[in-house]
Parts: sequence; structure tokens; C-alpha cells
Amino acid sequence: MVNPVVGIIGGGQLGSMLAAAAKKINIKTIIFSDDINSPAKNFADEFIFGSYDDAKKINEFINEVDVVTFEFENIPYQTLKKINESKKVLPKPEINRIVQNRLSEKDFLNKININTTKYVSVKNDKDLKSNIDLLPAILKTCTLGYDGKGQYKINSSKELDSLRPDFKNEFILEKLIILKKEISIIITRFGKERYEIYEPIENIHEDQILKFSKIPSDINNNISKKSKDWAVKIAEELDYIGTLCVEYFIDKNDNLYVNEIAPRVHNSGHLTINSHNISQFENHIRAICGLEQIKIKKIYDARMQNLIGDDINSYRKKKFKDNEFFFDYLKNEIKKKRKMGHITVTKKC
Ligand code: ADP
Ligand code: MG
Repeated sequence: MVNPVVGIIGGGQLGSMLAAAAKKINIKTIIFSDDINSPAKNFADEFIFGSYDDAKKINEFINEVDVVTFEFENIPYQTLKKINESKKVLPKPEINRIVQNRLSEKDFLNKININTTKYVSVKNDKDLKSNIDLLPAILKTCTLGYDGKGQYKINSSKELDSLRPDFKNEFILEKLIILKKEISIIITRFGKERYEIYEPIENIHEDQILKFSKIPSDINNNISKKSKDWAVKIAEELDYIGTLCVEYFIDKNDNLYVNEIAPRVHNSGHLTINSHNISQFENHIRAICGLEQIKIKKIYDARMQNLIGDDINSYRKKKFKDNEFFFDYLKNEIKKKRKMGHITVTKKC
């Protein structure tokens, strides 16, 4: 069989790393993005620029690829559904529809008996005021938020009056958990009960943005097992194909909660490029192309640091040791809070 051509929607760093992983195993990639300056241009074989609802451009893209995937979940469902009529979209669009809305995502998790923090739907001021028993809590937009965007932390009812959420959006109010730790599980599912799962990754956020990830994580065996079991259950229930990330909270009593599901490769899995024989990116490409499933093996322990905003400047001039791997996302402009690159440091395990 001739290798399929992979179409990737979205041209940021995740698209870049998917394209680089595909190239390594001789798979051609075409990026479709609404940003003419997409960094992934530098890594993919081809690049198509167009908006995500431009039917003509989307058609041009569809005609050139065999399978379509995406690097971010907020692509209009209708667009994915339309593409899926002629070329397979993986993971399938219905999954995206569940996960791109925080409310349906949490309803799904609770339906399959997976623990989340307490939450309520908030559509207006009245809903907010009638749920003060949930405080302290975080008010989040149901859709389109990332890196803490569209989120308001509310400590007590006194703060409600100064809050001005834009109720054009739907919100979810989530009980605040006093976090002991955050971890994530990255799993790549190839088919029914066929998957590769990485060990739990420990994550540290600053200002709601991921700052550090490391393996091994400092958690007990119980939590490690439960987090993996839940990730498998989620992937099986969704009939997921490709790489999926489940983000978890652990509270002071060692209770485990799913925070959210990312139906894609994930920032906390960047370290798998250097720590494992097969990265989350290569596994995603392998799974969606129906290529051979290879058992994953850890080669090194690792610690990843995101380089945010002008952190990147000093790294661009730095000399690195053999166990330090610097990734510059080649974004055309440095912005505050923007992920500009990362560095992974490996260690013998
Ligand atoms: P995003 O989609 O922006 O990643 P998240 O819901 O994952 O949004 O929130 C980002 C970070 O904010 C989390 O990783 C966590 O550190 C903090 N956070 C979010 N919700 C809660 C909560 N209910 N309790 C405690 N911390 C939270
Ligand atoms: Mg998150």
C-alpha cells in the first residue's frame, strides 16, 4: 500500500510536531490553516491557507489528502462533518462535538461514572447567583477557552457584583479544587482494546498555563493505575482513533478528578519526543494511518519547560548539552503568554 497523505487542520506547534513526526516515517502532510504565518508551514510538505468555513479552500484540501486530523478541537463541527463525508476525519467529528463544550464533556464523563469536580450550567446572572453554594469556584466559557482564557475565579459571593461575564456565551461554574497535583495521561488508541499508553505525566501550571511537565510523576500506584484505567475507558467509550490526552486533578485527600479531555496530541506530551522510542505525535500518525502499532518503551526520564513570551530570547542564543533538546516554534511574533518554544531535559532512568 502506498502511504496515505495526512491533512492536518491547524498550523501551530502541535501541527508542526505532527508534520515532523510524519516526515520521519515517510508520511506526507498538508497543513490547512487560517493563519498565513502558521509555523507548521516550516515542517509540512504543503500548506493551504483558508478560513475554516471556506468551502472552496476546504475542497482543495480534501482533494489532496487521504485522511484528515487536527491539532486543536475548536474547529466548527459542521466543517469536520462535511470533510468526513469524503475523507475520513480521525478522531471522528462526533467526539469533537462532545469535547469542545465543557458541559457536554463533563456530562459524558459522569455518565460513564468518571469523577469530575461539581459543576452547573450558567446562562445568566440569575443562574450564577443561585449557585453560590458552589463557591469558591471557577466560571469558564463552555467553548473556545484555552490556556485559562475566558475563566474567572470566584472566591466568595462578594466578588459576584464586580464580575461582568459576557452572557452571549454559555458558561459552566466549576467547584474549585484545592490542588495537590495535576497529572495527565496520553494514550494512543489504534482500535478496539488496542492502545499504547504513556506513564502519568506530572504538570505544573502558572497563571493557568502549563509551565513544566515531567516523568516520572510523584504519585502513588493507586492513582497511577486509576488514571490509566480511566483514560482507557474514555478512549474505548468514544471509539477513539489517534492520540488523546486526559488532564487530571488530585486533591489533598488523593481524590482523582478528570479536568478535561483533549482529543489530540497535547503540550504535556512534548517530552515523549525525547523520552520514548515513539512519541505521542508519531503514534497519532501511525494510528490514524492504520500503520503498525509498536510497543512504546521509555528510554529516559524527562522534564519539559514551556518557553512562554520572551523566555525564548535567551534560549535562542544558548548552547545546549547532549541531554537538552530545544524546540523553537518559529512563531513570527513574540507575545506575552504565547507559547514560543520548549526545552526538554532527559535523564537516565
Ligand atoms: P484550559 O482549557 O484553558 O486548559 P482548564 O480547565 O484546563 O482550561 O484550566 C486551566 C488550569 O486552571 C488547570 O490546569 C488548573 O491548574 C486550573 N483550574 C481549572 N479549573 C480548576 C478547578 N475547578 N479547580 C482548581 N483548579 C482549576
Ligand atoms: Mg487544560
